[in-house]
Amino acid sequence: MSDPYRTLGVSKDAPHAEIKRAFRKLARQYHPDRNPDDSAAEERFKAVQNAWEKLETPDKRRQYDEEQQMNQVFGGMGGMPGDMGGMGIDDVFRQFMGGASRPQPSPFAGRPRAAPPQAATGADISAPLDIDIERAMEGGKVQFTHNRLVRCSECRASGCVHCTNLGVRRKKTRLTINVPKGAKHGQQLKLPKMGNEHPSGEPGDLTVTLRIDAEEGRRWEGESLIQEVAISYSTLMLGGEVRVATPAGKTVSVKVAPATRIGDRKRLPKMGFAGADLDIEFTLDEHESLTPSQQEALEALRDAGM
Ligand SMILES: [Zn+2]
Repeated sequence: MSDPYRTLGVSKDAPHAEIKRAFRKLARQYHPDRNPDDSAAEERFKAVQNAWEKLETPDKRRQYDEEQQMNQVFGGMGGMPGDMGGMGIDDVFRQFMGGASRPQPSPFAGRPRAAPPQAATGADISAPLDIDIERAMEGGKVQFTHNRLVRCSECRASGCVHCTNLGVRRKKTRLTINVPKGAKHGQQLKLPKMGNEHPSGEPGDLTVTLRIDAEEGRRWEGESLIQEVAISYSTLMLGGEVRVATPAGKTVSVKVAPATRIGDRKRLPKMGFAGADLDIEFTLDEHESLTPSQQEALEALRDAGM
């Protein structure tokens, strides 16, 4: 099965808005109206649509990511186990195998275990939080909702039909998260005891990873910010200068070397968010139509073998 992130050309930790922009751009590029009778473009168009269907809402995306994780875990065990009483298998797995009561190797091998059992805890949860640039720069409060296991109130966590005898149930929890001023993409905020609750032990922790929407024309590659800069074909070939509006809110002039190629990059130190570097990537400034003089100039180029 193909990786939807790869199909859309985004990283796995990209903010939702960035994935949406990537989808729209590719869907436009490979749309059948724009590529009549082109079966390769049609296949690409379908692949882009399929990829988007897997990621188009935060819920779908989370489900896809969790399935991928489970496939990795259960890959060697003959596939996924079946549904477990309406409870996500991911919850069950995390609660009872992941973070909870890891068996400790006994230092007295062969003897009965004398050490007291480790206190059980609910599993930790990691979840992303998308924020915009303003929020990242200025900080502030953001509403956050996540699903977690909480102790069953029907049976006081002793096990009943409501919690399929697990003592915990899946529940939506709303939180207010304080985003620090100058927050960085990929920064993690830890919220103690806001992870999964445990039937008898302490709750696990919640770790929220911030994803900053870098806005149109920019994308993240890990923690590096890439900004596309469209330049004319003549500037690509002959070299020159181009004006770049940086995410730090400045407009700078950048030299373009002769014979630059599409995809070439240049690092602008401290021009990204919060004093970080910005990598610009040159793309071709495409034209939907030509003026008569441009048409004439291009025809002359063609005749000159370019
Ligand atoms: Zn119960």
